[in-house]
Amino acid sequence: MLLLCMLFYNHKRYFMDTSSTILAIGTQSAESPLHQMHIERRTVRPQDVKIEILYCGICHSDLHQARNEWKGTTYPCVPGHEIVGRVVEVGAGVNYFAVGDLAAVGCMVDSCRECESCREGLEQYCENGATYTYNSPDLHLPTQTYGGYSESIVVDEQYVLRVPANLDLAGAAPLLCAGITTYSPMKHWNVGPGKKIGIIGIGGLGHMAVKLAKAMGATVVMITTSSSKVSDGLRLGADEVILSTDEDQMLSHAHSMHLILDCVSADHDINAYMTLLKRDGSLVLVGLPEDPLQIAPFSVVGGRKSFSGSSIGGIKETQEMLDFCGKHDITSEIELIHAKDINNAYERLLRGDVKYRFVIDMATLKG
Ligand code: NAP
Ligand code: ZN
Repeated sequence: MLLLCMLFYNHKRYFMDTSSTILAIGTQSAESPLHQMHIERRTVRPQDVKIEILYCGICHSDLHQARNEWKGTTYPCVPGHEIVGRVVEVGAGVNYFAVGDLAAVGCMVDSCRECESCREGLEQYCENGATYTYNSPDLHLPTQTYGGYSESIVVDEQYVLRVPANLDLAGAAPLLCAGITTYSPMKHWNVGPGKKIGIIGIGGLGHMAVKLAKAMGATVVMITTSSSKVSDGLRLGADEVILSTDEDQMLSHAHSMHLILDCVSADHDINAYMTLLKRDGSLVLVGLPEDPLQIAPFSVVGGRKSFSGSSIGGIKETQEMLDFCGKHDITSEIELIHAKDINNAYERLLRGDVKYRFVIDMATLKG
C-alpha cells in the first residue's frame, strides 16, 4: 500500500519523462571541488525548448550553494543560472521559439502558475515554491534540477527568454541573474531622474546595478571596499565613488541617498551604510551572506528609514530588462574562462578578484 501511495504521489512528479545523459560540471559535497560529471536531461515535451548552452555566468549564489552556505543544497549540485545558448529542438506545441534561435534561461524554470504572485508575473515569489534552475526538486525526473554548467538544458518555453540580437552573447549571460536581480528592485523603488542611488558591493550584481541605474537616469554613487575599483567608477556609469573604508568619504555623503542597493556577498556592517540614506530612504538587500546581519534600532528609527529585500525578478520583467539592455546597449563586463578553470574562478570570486563576472565558455566543456 505504501509503495502504491508513493507511486501515485510520484506519478505527477516524475514518472512521465524519458531522458538522455549529458556532460556537466558539478560537485558531490560542500567540501569537494567542482568536476566533470554526467547528468540526465528530460526528453523534449510538447511545450519544451532544448537549448545548447553557449555561455553560463558564475554568480556568487552558485558558490554559496555549491558550498552549502545556505544549508539547503542537495548533491550532486550542478550550478549555473545565467544561461544563453541556441535552440536545438522544440516540442510540437512550442509557439515562440524555433530551432536556431538564440535563447536564455535565468534562475527559474517553472512555478505553480496559479497563485497570486504567479498570476501577477512575480513567479520568483510563487506561493507554492518556484522551481529554480538548479537545486529544486525536478518536476519531471527523479532528481533535483541541474543548472547551466552543462551542455544543454530543456525548459518549458514559458520560462525561456529572448536575447536582443545586438548584445554580445557572453556579456549578456550575466543579465539573466545579476541584471534582473538589480533591475527589479530599482524599478520597484522608482529609480530614475531626480533620485540618488547608492550601490554597495561592486561585483557581478553591483556593477550591473551601476550601469542599469545610470541608464534609468538616476544619479549613481558606487560604494566599494576595493581601492582597485575606484577608477572604474566613471567608466561603469557612476557619478560619484565612495571608498567605504575611508571614514571621511562616508561622512561627506551622509543623508544624501534615496535608495541603497546592497549587493554584498559577505558579512558587513549594514548600519554604517544606513547613515548614507536621506529621511524615508530605503536600503534594499539583494546580497545573501551566509550569516544574519545586525540592524541597530537607531539605524531605521532615526530618519524613518526602511530596510528591505528583493529576489531576482519575474519572467515578464526579465524580458523587459533584456529589452532595456538591448535598447541601451548594456552587457556585463566579463572574464571568459575555460571550463577546466572553474575551481580557480571560485577562489578568485571569493577574494573579490574579478572584474566583474566570470562567464564559462561552454564550448570548452568537452576539452
Ligand atoms: P560578487 O561578484 O562576489 O560581488 C560581491 C561584492 O561584495 C564584492 O565584489 C565586494 O565588492 C563586496 N564584498 C565582498 N566581501 C565584502 C565584505 N566583507 N564587506 C564589504 N563588501 C564586500 O557576488 P555577486 O554574484 O554579485 O552576488 C552578490 C550577492 O548577491 C551574493 O550573496 C549572491 O548570493 C546574492 N544574490 C542574490 C540574488 C537575489 O535574488 N537577491 C540574486 C543573485 C545573487 P567591493 O569590492 O566593491 O567592496
Ligand atoms: Zn545568481
